[in-house]
Amino acid sequence: MGLNLSSKCREYGWGMYGLLVTLILASIYLSVAVNQTSNTVREKVTTLLEEKIPSLTGLSDYESALLRYQLALNKYFARSISRDRFMVVEGEARQEMAITFNYMLKGLDKPDDVNNIRDSYAADLALAPLLDAELTKSNVDWNKARNILVDLNTNTIAIRAQLDQLQAQLETASSVSTTEVVQDVKASSFLVHLYTAGSLFIAFFMIYQFKARLTSERKLAFQAWHDPLTKLPNRLSFEHRLTVLGEDPHTVVLGAADRFAHIVGGIGHQRADQLIVEVTKRIQEVAKLHGGEVFRLDGANIAVLYKFTNSHTDFYTSLEALKRLGTLPVYIEEQEIHVTVSLGVSEYPIHGLAPSDLLKNADAALTAAKESGGDSYVFYSHSLNDRSQEKLALQAALGHAVEHAELELYYQPQFDITRSRLVGFEALVRWIRSDLIVSPADFIPLAESSGLIVPIGSWIFREACNQIKIWNEGREEKLLMAINISPRQFNHPDFMLMVREHLAKSGADPSWIELEITEGVMIQRPERTALLMKHLRQIGTKLAIDDFGTGYSSLSYLKHFPASKLKIDQSFIRQLKLGSSDAAIVQAVITLGHSLGIEVIAEGVETEEQLSLLRNWGCDQIQGYYYSRPLPADKAGDFMDICAGPTMAWNNSTLAPS
Ligand code: C2E
Ligand code: MG
Ligand code: MG
Repeated sequence: MGLNLSSKCREYGWGMYGLLVTLILASIYLSVAVNQTSNTVREKVTTLLEEKIPSLTGLSDYESALLRYQLALNKYFARSISRDRFMVVEGEARQEMAITFNYMLKGLDKPDDVNNIRDSYAADLALAPLLDAELTKSNVDWNKARNILVDLNTNTIAIRAQLDQLQAQLETASSVSTTEVVQDVKASSFLVHLYTAGSLFIAFFMIYQFKARLTSERKLAFQAWHDPLTKLPNRLSFEHRLTVLGEDPHTVVLGAADRFAHIVGGIGHQRADQLIVEVTKRIQEVAKLHGGEVFRLDGANIAVLYKFTNSHTDFYTSLEALKRLGTLPVYIEEQEIHVTVSLGVSEYPIHGLAPSDLLKNADAALTAAKESGGDSYVFYSHSLNDRSQEKLALQAALGHAVEHAELELYYQPQFDITRSRLVGFEALVRWIRSDLIVSPADFIPLAESSGLIVPIGSWIFREACNQIKIWNEGREEKLLMAINISPRQFNHPDFMLMVREHLAKSGADPSWIELEITEGVMIQRPERTALLMKHLRQIGTKLAIDDFGTGYSSLSYLKHFPASKLKIDQSFIRQLKLGSSDAAIVQAVITLGHSLGIEVIAEGVETEEQLSLLRNWGCDQIQGYYYSRPLPADKAGDFMDICAGPTMAWNNSTLAPS
């Protein structure tokens, strides 16, 4: 979603740059266009104001001066004004006509148009002295004087007609100029409107773009600081908060759901996500009540940060409340799930000054809480770190165990009770470290958690195959070699390849090999496990379910997994007595196995009593100290020879214990 938004922003970003360039070009164009229009308008208006309009004014002033001139002549003829007055009026009119005539000429495109007027006007001017001469005669010839006036009128009418024509011409020219000016102004204001509309569009687009970018940035910031599943602040936020808290008192509580991998194996990843959401919601509600802030670190791991130390009354109440959450079942799609949590506590400043130390120590405390069986809280103490240091040293040494040839396989015999025969061995690894034998119970979990089990497991498989090949050479009734396979080894992508390769190289027949896997393996990745088991059965190897009864699997798993043997865990055998609950479980497992056509072996058989009970209930095979402890290869070879002898002279005291 965030990616979508940012790619959209990038797309729009290019669009925006395009629009801004367009806006700049449009501004330049607009400025040039408006400048041109204003120049044209200025020119046209100047012509109009300085030429056409003065011309029109001159024309009408000239006409009125002409009329006054005519009137003066007429009045003089009628003797309504004296000669002196006539002279004055005629002179003024003549002068005015001269001035306005020139004024009128200015606005004319073709001054030749007024040549006729000029001639008639000159003729008119010549008539005044003629009239004056006639009227000042002692014997006035009134007909001649009247004729002069008639000529004057005729001329004046001609001049006025021509003036009307000129006026019409000037008015048309002015109106064309005005229309052109209006059109230019209109075009220019259209451009301005267009530009304004474009600018507004770009402004809105930029606001939209800015908002989209802001939203995307906010989203990215949220994603960077929060966990997408639970929406809780994430590890980065947590570390940042710790740094910000500085020297203020605070306490860190790291929490993890117990046996979460098993739960995921049982309910699948999708439901596990729902479970995480539900559990973290509950944790958040409880922590909030007591002033705790919750962060999701990864998987089913959370951190609660309290801004006080454990001396605060709320602290223990909060821890207890968090622990009590484990007693409430969670319902996911109507399935009831119980999740307990382990909590590790470290406090500033007594358990660490730097945030990284506080975290490391809270983690050590959490590990201790988990190792103690879970559903508990542990406060950090220095001894915890000593233990983890020890573990790290052990892990480092284990890394070299194969190359330093420190590993050795021991073999514990397995017997068929009904036929009283040795049927096979279980390969059990030992680590000889500076002449001390380290129990696999101590280092196999470490090898498992560090991933070293993959190379170590491969070495074990190869050794066991080579050994059974030697033992079965020329042997009529072939023995079985049971090899323990740990979950991580089984789930490794190259597991099948490793099995095929060692079988082929050793020359051991696959039917001589029995792989022991625990119920935990089946739960973790059921589909893959079923498929892999099918492949293993197809190539001919046998499959036993080890420690049967201690895991969390439902019995329905047996239907889907092609197991050839069930190994009843020794915890059911240890206290085995007639009528006990262990007896009921053991009998039930034997019946279940047989009804599914699966052999049943009991491990950890130490006494005669246990053996006879198992024999009576129809158990097929047994393995335990009663017959033999796990033996090094040479002693196991001796043991085989004794078993092959005429009488089975073996018992648990004849052979050295491992
Ligand atoms: P497991 O596969 O259930 O092995 C049986 C354990 O019971 C062995 O412990 C064996 O020595 C012990 N045992 C056998 N009979 C008796 C008995 O009568 N009484 C008592 N008290 N114990 C008996 P060990 O050898 O210490 O192995 C412990 C676990 O370590 C094994 O349990 C298995 O889960 C793991 N392990 C051992 N060897 C290997 C190995 O080669 N590969 C892997 N992946 N795991 C191994
Ligand atoms: Mg085993
Ligand atoms: Mg076992």
